[in-house]
Amino acid sequence: VYFDELNLVDELLDALDDMGFEKCTPIQAKAIPPSLEGRDVLAVAQTGTGKTAAFLLPILDKLTREPVSKVNTIILEPTRELAMQVDRQLEGFSFYTPASSIAIYGGRDGHSMEREKNALKTGAPLVVATPGRLIAHLDLGYADLSGVRHLVLDEADRMLDMGFVNDMIKIIDMLPKEKLQILFYSATMPGKIRKFSREILKNPVEISI
Ligand code: AMP
Repeated sequence: VYFDELNLVDELLDALDDMGFEKCTPIQAKAIPPSLEGRDVLAVAQTGTGKTAAFLLPILDKLTREPVSKVNTIILEPTRELAMQVDRQLEGFSFYTPASSIAIYGGRDGHSMEREKNALKTGAPLVVATPGRLIAHLDLGYADLSGVRHLVLDEADRMLDMGFVNDMIKIIDMLPKEKLQILFYSATMPGKIRKFSREILKNPVEISI
């Protein structure tokens, strides 16, 4: 499957062209169409399979057709490194779109907490965050989450192993449930991950590659 067969907006096709992406990887071919339809997705996919584009492109497509001025998407990552990596891919894909992002993973100085706070207050459409750091902001109460429509759990198995389950549940409980699409990505699918996914997903499309 080629990207230009997926009904993605031209702004994304141009960026994919710049980045040298032409053909979908298997996870992208399977996950992008139902994600564009607004379905919840439960996907088993490892790093290196192209999973990042699989969850970012459908969200960016929506945000290009209907630009927003509030926080719209929260992407949770287990580590600061992954958050930075995903934010970097996001900047590439969103180059021609009106969507902007902020990465929230903490820093060694007070400056970055302030920067993250301002982005949350002014409503960066996409927030890429580690769970603990995002909770630190949410507990302070200035983030308006009423416009959130998409939640991505990336490397959900790793986030569970790292003890982030309560943070993830706390974040999910703060989001507008009725309107929320959840894209759940995990490298493995042991029983505890499947159980957790059942608790939060609504009639998901299940994908493995
Ligand atoms: P990921 O599994 O999302 O970490 O992606 C692994 C690497 O593959 C990243 O460096 C992407 O830029 C690259 N990549 C993902 N999808 C494609 C594609 N369809 N064509 C070419 N490169 C890709």
